[in-house]
Amino acid sequence: MLDFFTIFSKGGIVLWCFQGAGVTESFTGPVNALIRSVILQERSGNNSYTHEALSLKYKLDNEFELIFVVGFQKILTLTYVDKFIDDVQLHFRDRYKNELEQKGSLKLLNNSFEFGNEFKMLLREAEASGKAKSPAPMRSFKESEKSQKTVKSMIETKGGDKGKEQSGKKNKNTKKDEAAKGDQVKAPPTVQKVTVENGNQGLTADEIMLKKREEFFRKHMAAPPEKTSKSPKPQKPREKPRRVWDISGKSGKSTKTLDYSDSRNGEDSTNEGEPNQDGTLPESMPGELLPVECDSSDEDDIVEEEDGEVAVVGNTSSISSKKAGGFGGMFGMLKGLVGSKNLTQADMEPVLDKMRDHLIGTSSAKGSICDFILGEAEMYTFTALSVASTVKQALQDSLVQILQPKRRVDILRDVMDAQIQRRPFVITFCGVNGVGKSTNLAKISFWLIENGFTVLIAACDTFRAGAVEQLRTHQRRLNSLHPPEKHGGRPVVQLYEKGYGKDAAGIAMEAIAYARNQSFDVVLVDTAGRMQDNAPLMTALAKLIAVNMPDLVLFVGEALVGNEAVDQLVKFNQALADHSMSDKPRLIDGIVLTKFDTIDDKVGAAISMTYITGQPIVFVGTGQTYNDLRSLNARAVVSALMKA
Ligand code: GDP
Repeated sequence: MLDFFTIFSKGGIVLWCFQGAGVTESFTGPVNALIRSVILQERSGNNSYTHEALSLKYKLDNEFELIFVVGFQKILTLTYVDKFIDDVQLHFRDRYKNELEQKGSLKLLNNSFEFGNEFKMLLREAEASGKAKSPAPMRSFKESEKSQKTVKSMIETKGGDKGKEQSGKKNKNTKKDEAAKGDQVKAPPTVQKVTVENGNQGLTADEIMLKKREEFFRKHMAAPPEKTSKSPKPQKPREKPRRVWDISGKSGKSTKTLDYSDSRNGEDSTNEGEPNQDGTLPESMPGELLPVECDSSDEDDIVEEEDGEVAVVGNTSSISSKKAGGFGGMFGMLKGLVGSKNLTQADMEPVLDKMRDHLIGTSSAKGSICDFILGEAEMYTFTALSVASTVKQALQDSLVQILQPKRRVDILRDVMDAQIQRRPFVITFCGVNGVGKSTNLAKISFWLIENGFTVLIAACDTFRAGAVEQLRTHQRRLNSLHPPEKHGGRPVVQLYEKGYGKDAAGIAMEAIAYARNQSFDVVLVDTAGRMQDNAPLMTALAKLIAVNMPDLVLFVGEALVGNEAVDQLVKFNQALADHSMSDKPRLIDGIVLTKFDTIDDKVGAAISMTYITGQPIVFVGTGQTYNDLRSLNARAVVSALMKA
C-alpha cells in the first residue's frame, strides 16, 4: 500500500529506499518537492506534505542527521504510518549506529545499507496492526444502550448527573481555591531591603572569623541532614541543573573555577580570598582581548596540485602531498577537479553542492552562504588556479568577510567616552538559560577591571533560584583579585540586587541611577534566561531594554548547539522587535559566543550567526576561568572550518 519509503542524509545522500510493488512512477519529484518547500525552509511543523496525488510523511532524526520519508496515495487512510515511520527510524538507527556515527558524507556513500528484510518485516507488522485497529461497524439504534432506557430513567439520571456535575464543579472550585492558597504560600519571598553587597560588610573581624569557622565545620563535619518533618516541601522555582562541560582536548584546560550555579558553591565558599579553586591566579588581561585561537597552521596556504606536484602558493617551501593540509577535510573531495582550465558555473555547482553538505555538517547557515560564495568565486580569474584552490580561496575570503564586524565595537573606548560624559556605560546580557550569561558577564567584569574600570553588576535575573548568589560569588572573587586596598579603598566591583520576584526593568533602572551617583564606569545587567518563543518573558525583556536604553545589548549564545543558537538569536531579535512598544525598537547589538572550547571544528555557528543577523561577535567564551575570554579571530575560525 505504500508507494515508497526512503531514508537519506540531511546532506542529500540516499542511504536506502523501497518502492512499492507495481509502483512505476519515480518518487524523486515528490521527495525533491518536499525538500525544497518544507525541509530546506525549516517548515517542518506537522510532518506531512501533499504532492499531487501523493501524501508524504516524514521524520527528521537530528542526532544522526537523517530524514525518513514515506509516500502513499492520498486517498488512502493509513492509520499506522506515524508509528511505522518511528519504528523504521529506531530499527535503522540501531542497526547502523556505528556507521552513522562516523557521519562523514563520503563514508555514508561507501556504505551499503541492507535494510530490505527488516523493513518488510516492520511493514507486515504495521499493516497487521492497522487492520486489527480498523474501526468497528456502527451499531443500530436497537443495539444501542439508549434504546433500552425509559424516559423516566433518563430524567433521573440527568438529575443525578447534575448533582454530580455540581459537586464536580465544587471540587474544581475548591481545587482552584487551594491552588490559589498554595500560590500564596509558594510565592517567592520578596526581599525588601536594597543591599549593595560587598563581602562581609558590617561584621567585625572576629565575627567574620567565627562565621568562616562555622562554615568550615558545617562543610567538613556535617552528617547528611536528618528529615525532621514529613510535611511536603514547599515547591521551589525550578532550578537549572548544574552543567559540567567536558573541555575538548584542544585547550588542555581543566574545568575548574567559574561554575557557581550551585548555590552551595557560592555561599559556603571557604577560600574566598583565593582566586581559583586550585589557588592559581588568573593571568592579567589588560588591553584588547587576545584573539580566539584555532588550529590554523595552514591558514593562508593555497595549495596547487598539478601534474602530481604539490606546492604552496604564498609560501615558497615545498611540502609533501601528505602534509597538504589545505586539501584535507572537505577539500579532499575537490581533488578530482584539479587542472588549469576556465571555470564555468556548471563546474562550480557540484563542488558547491558538496560544500553545502559540509557547511550543513558544521552547522552553518545552509544554502545561503554557498550562494554568496558562488558570487564571490566568480570574481576570481579561474585560468591560473585549479578549481580546488580557487574555490578554497573564494570560500575563505567570503567567510572572513562575513565574520568581519560591519560596525566598530570598541568597548574600552566607548566606556572612556561615557566616562567623559559622566555616565556609566551600560551593557545588557540576554539569552536562554544555561548558555553562560552570568559566567561570561563575570569574565567581562574581570577584563574591564583589569583595564582600570569599576563595574556595577545589576542582578536582574530575579527568577532563577541561586542567580543572585552566583553573581555575589563572582563579585567577591573579583574583589579578592583586585582588593579595595589597591584601588584607593574602593571596591572595584559591586553587586546591585533586590532579591527575587521583583520587576527586572525597575531594578536595572535603579542600578543605573546608583552607578551614576556612585561614579561606576560600567553597569553589566544580567537578565533571566528565557526561551525565544515565550511571549510574556520576551515582552518583559523588550521593556527592560526600552526603559533603560543600554549602550549595548549582547545576546549570549553557546557555540555548542550550532544552528539552534542561530535560531535563538534570530527569534530573540524578532521578539524584541515584535514586543517593543516603540516604532524604532532596540535590537541586539552583538553576540557573546560561549563554550567555544567545547566544539572542536564545529565553528559554523559563529559564521551563521553573524551572516544571518549581521551582528558582530564581540566576545568569545573559551572556558570556565576568568581568563577564558577572547575576541574573534575571523581568519583562524574560518581556517578551522575549512580544515574540518
Ligand atoms: P546562565 O544561566 O546563562 O547564566 O549560565 P551560567 O553562567 O550559569 O553557565 C552555565 C554553565 O556553563 C556553567 O557551568 C558555566 O561554568 C559554563 N560555561 C559558561 N561559559 C563557558 C565557556 O565559555 N566554556 C565552557 N566550557 N563552559 C562555560
